Amino acid sequence: MRRKLIAGNWKMNGSVSANATLLAEISAAGFDAAKADVLVCPPYPYLTQALEKVQGTSVAVGAQDCSVHDAGAYTSEVSAGMLRDVGCTYVILGHSERRSYHAESDQIVAAKTLQALRAGLTPIVCVGETLEQRESGATDAVVGAQLKAVLEKLESADIAKIVVAYEPVWAIGTGKTATPEMAQEVHAFLRQAIASFSAEAAATVKILYGGSMKPDNAAELLRQTDIDGGLIGGAALKANDFLAIIAAV
Ligand code: PGA
Repeated sequence: MRRKLIAGNWKMNGSVSANATLLAEISAAGFDAAKADVLVCPPYPYLTQALEKVQGTSVAVGAQDCSVHDAGAYTSEVSAGMLRDVGCTYVILGHSERRSYHAESDQIVAAKTLQALRAGLTPIVCVGETLEQRESGATDAVVGAQLKAVLEKLESADIAKIVVAYEPVWAIGTGKTATPEMAQEVHAFLRQAIASFSAEAAATVKILYGGSMKPDNAAELLRQTDIDGGLIGGAALKANDFLAIIAAV
């Protein structure tokens, strides 16, 4: 039985005061930690604020990216080790916004995944197809190649330590959600792809769905056999919505 993970990807949103309110509401909610792991991923400057605010609760804090490097002359970059050092436990990698705006290749995502694992962070590796790719029937080939590029770099014991997020690019921030059946189909395919590297890991690796997950569609998505949680953007910025999604588990 895979425990669900509900992760908020705040993207480039927030402020000290807005975060204080949001984090206080999430921390106060007292959800059932036995049912779901809860994670918030604020922008870098607010990671320590988030870590302080969720202290003593079961809410985890993660970042939205990390460097491929360990340390040194890499202006503006943040290493996986630094994230772990301040108390983060997760890092989102290969989000489609990183892939498209920062030309992150599958190889870069794989290198970052290795950095995260080495630092003791849980990487959330994002994969997803564009609308054009879906319409041309290339979904499985695209997400399969994105995932394989990462898996082939990992020891099989490490495969069990990652989280995968399926985020169809056309569903991100658009209000369009994959139907539960569409999502389940891709999740099952991804789990099969993991199984071809490690059958053991395939049974335990969480595969999250992301892309306009909201209180009114969460329950049905989360009910699918291979959907183990959500990576939530817009709805993670409103405590009521985020908590409603957690409650939908
Ligand atoms: P969204 O974003 O929920 O706003 O669609 C999800 C994501 O990009 O992680």
